[in-house]
Order: sequence, then structure tokens, then C-alpha cells
Amino acid sequence: MARRRLVALVVGLALVTTLGWGRVPERARAGQAAGVTILFDTHLHGNLTGSGDVTMAHYAGLIAQRRAANPGALFLGAGDDLGSSAMSSIFKGRQMVDAFNAMGLDANTLGNHEFDYGPDNFLEQARAARFAWVTANVTDRRTGGPFGEEVGVRRFVIKEVNGVRVGITGVAWLFTSATNAGPNLVVDDPVTALRSLTPRMRAEGAQLVVVMSHLCGVQAEAVAAQVDGIDAIIGDHCAERLKEAKLINNTIVARRGDEFDALGELTLRVESGRRVSFSYTDHEVTKDTPVDPALTALVADYRRRLDAELEVVIGETTEPLDNRRPVVRGAESNTGNLIADTLHAWGKADVALQNGGGVRGERIVPAGPVTRATILEILPFNNTAALLRVTGVQLRAALENGVSGQVGTAGKFPQVSGLTFVYNPDAPSGSRVLSVAVGGRPLDPAATYTLATNDFVAGGGDDYTMLRDAEVLIPAAAGPLVSVLVIEAVEAAGTIAPKVEGRINTGR
Ligand SMILES: [Zn+2]
Repeated sequence: MARRRLVALVVGLALVTTLGWGRVPERARAGQAAGVTILFDTHLHGNLTGSGDVTMAHYAGLIAQRRAANPGALFLGAGDDLGSSAMSSIFKGRQMVDAFNAMGLDANTLGNHEFDYGPDNFLEQARAARFAWVTANVTDRRTGGPFGEEVGVRRFVIKEVNGVRVGITGVAWLFTSATNAGPNLVVDDPVTALRSLTPRMRAEGAQLVVVMSHLCGVQAEAVAAQVDGIDAIIGDHCAERLKEAKLINNTIVARRGDEFDALGELTLRVESGRRVSFSYTDHEVTKDTPVDPALTALVADYRRRLDAELEVVIGETTEPLDNRRPVVRGAESNTGNLIADTLHAWGKADVALQNGGGVRGERIVPAGPVTRATILEILPFNNTAALLRVTGVQLRAALENGVSGQVGTAGKFPQVSGLTFVYNPDAPSGSRVLSVAVGGRPLDPAATYTLATNDFVAGGGDDYTMLRDAEVLIPAAAGPLVSVLVIEAVEAAGTIAPKVEGRINTGR
């Protein structure tokens, strides 16, 4: 090589390098490492506020802070955002879309609670979104394409971050029968869907493949093990939180819980278009987190509108509603019947059970107008409905548990629908139930019954441990809020007249 040519080459290289630093993003320098940071996730269940005075403004503030520290960072969701909350029962999830638009969410996926208010509402909210909705396996039966394709839902998107092309999709559990998703929505097997989509994303230029997961952790890990070529699976339908990310079949699996507890930060280091290493941090969100002022204003505005809506009269009761503590925890109460009957109707169940401790307010609500606030005073907890299949033996054991505590005090006392029972409060705890009838016929220990209840009881709370072994027909994670069900029941009925009618009797 002539000396002159060598000099020209060196000068040329220097020029390219200089230009590279100055103008060409990091990616163009072959062999150099680039960092892709993913902040996750959403999974906020229609809430703009969390526990401990934390709001979306804190969450957004933390995201802004982490974005400033990691230029180009993506903020990705995990679904279950449009519902379910008291706010969503009024605004139908639009409050979340507005918040995400303001926060610059990059992409979200379709979870079960996107369909709490039906498929048309999802389409309407998706249309208002300025972020991408993507799903690998939620499908429109009529087209075979992603559900909502007509409003912009895609199987995946590719975003360029610091010169790296990041392919983003999402995946959900088989939620169809547990939601109001309607007849046109089907959920395909996650493994099959991702096995075909991942190579397609690579073929269309994705150098990294990131999956926003609306699966439970075990399922997500099975996907990681069975599908090659996924760089990261983030998010969790079951709200589980891992302090450290896992590596399974070269796929990073990270979950940060749900609502406003934490923010996940996953950084992938990429060299020559390939992932070479990663780091993961799980950030706590507290009320001391600096807020994002734009979100402070948005949250305050929606809260004002919510407060006004809560005072709207939704119906009338001709009977006083008795929620006094010793009553709901010690005897059949007409408020308990209203709630249990609502669960019973929602689940089209044989029977329903609501624990008395979940019924609050602790007063007699006089006959007259009922507002949304009245119902939220009675049901202040964010309990969701669940549908189980139990044996006669399990159902009897559940009632036995319900009356096993200090009657009048213990929160486990059952308020019921679809059944009647007799018990002796003076008998030893554990052998108080004398007889049970379901739909007017004696309980058959060998038969099975569908039981609608709340997530607390279904999960074995208040010693209802026998229900943890029951077959789950609609998991609590997919169920609507019990409070919202009761609000809707009162709205639908216009006038209610719940009475004590001999469902729970003592054999004294
Ligand atoms: Zn979910």
C-alpha cells in the first residue's frame, strides 16, 4: 500500500469517527456498545392513585427522572389499565389513556381488564391513545389479525433506541371467557403465537425482542423456556414482584408487581446488534418521589370530576341498609344480602358468599336516595369478584369456618345468597353448622356448586383456606370490583328493597 493512500485512509477514518461522535447516533459505530433501557410497566387497574398517598404524578416523576438518566429509554406497559376501579366505572379507562399520553408511554398490550366495559369501549380508548397497542395473541376471530387492528393495534412495533432496533410485542393469558370481550375476540396460545412472531420480528429488522407480559409468572417462564429468540419478558398478570431478574433460555424475565409499588428498569447492552449483558433495578415508588407537575394537574382534575360523580344519585332504597358492625359480622344483614345477591347474579352462580368484615360503613343508611359514594362507603376495599367450583363438602366447611369465630365480631361471618343454613352459636367452634340448603334442597356433600365470592375469601383470607383448593372458573385477577358490581346493580334496578329473609338461622 502506497504511503499516500495510507495517510488518506487514516484521515478518512478520523473524519468518519469524528462525524460519528458528532452526528451519527451511537449505533452506527460497529462493534461499539449501546444501551437500551426499558422502564416498566403499567398494570394500574384504572387507578390514578395508589396506596400511601402515591399517585400517577409520583410514578410519572420517577419515569421522567430515569429517562433523564438513560436517554432514549422506553416506557412500556403490561396491560390491565383501562379497568377496574371506581374511576374506571365512570370514565371507562379514558383517564388512563390521557395519563399515558401525557407521560409518553411508548407501547402497551391488551390484558383482560381492557375489556371490562366491552370490546367497543376498548376500541374507543385505543383510538384515543398516542402510544402503540401491540399483542402477539389477542386475535379478532373474523380477520385472524390482532384485535383492534382497525384502530391501530398491531402484532408488534419496532422502535429505534440509540441505534438499536427494538421489536416490542405483548402476550396475554387465555382470558376470553373471564371478561366482557365479546364473541369476536379469541386469545391464542402464547407459546405458539410467540414461536411464529419472534422470527418475523427478527426478519423485519428487530435486533432485540421484548415481550410485555400479561401472563402469570409461571406461564411467562414457560414461554421463556419454550420460545427461542426473546430477549426480555417484562410484566406480570399475577402482580408478582421479583427483586432480581431471572435468565431462562437466554431470556431475561423481570416482574415489578402492579399498581404504584415499583418501577422496573432493565438495561440491555448491545454490541454489533446483539445483546451482550443486562442490568436490572427495581425502584420503589413513594410519596417522596418528585412529582411530574403535568400529571399532578391531570390527577387533580380527574379526582374533582370523580368526587362530583360520586355524589350523583344512582337509585333509591326503600329499606334502610344495615351495615352496623355487630350485624354484618353476626347475623344475616340486608346489606350483606344485597352484596351476596349481586355476586350471585354476576357469576350466574349456585351460591354466593361475602365475608361480613368486607362490609363497612358501620351504620344504618336510611331509606332514600343512594349515591355511588353510599356504596363505596359500604365497600371501600378494592375487592374483585371471583367464581369458583366447590364440592358440597367444601361449601359446608366454608360456612362452618364463617361461623367459627366470635359471632358479632369476627370478620369471617358469611353473608350469603342462593343458600340457607342453620347453626348453633353455642356449640364448639368447628361443629356449629346444623344444616345447609342450596336452592331449597339439602346440600349434597358429593355434588359440586358454583360459588361467587370476593378475591379475599377466594384466596383463603379469614381462614377460608378450604376455598384455595377449589377449581377457579373466573380468577379474581380477572373479576370486576365488587363495589362497581353493586353500583351497577343499583343503577339497573332503580329501586332496591333488600330484606332479611331467613337465610341464616340459629338453632337456638
Ligand atoms: Zn390481568
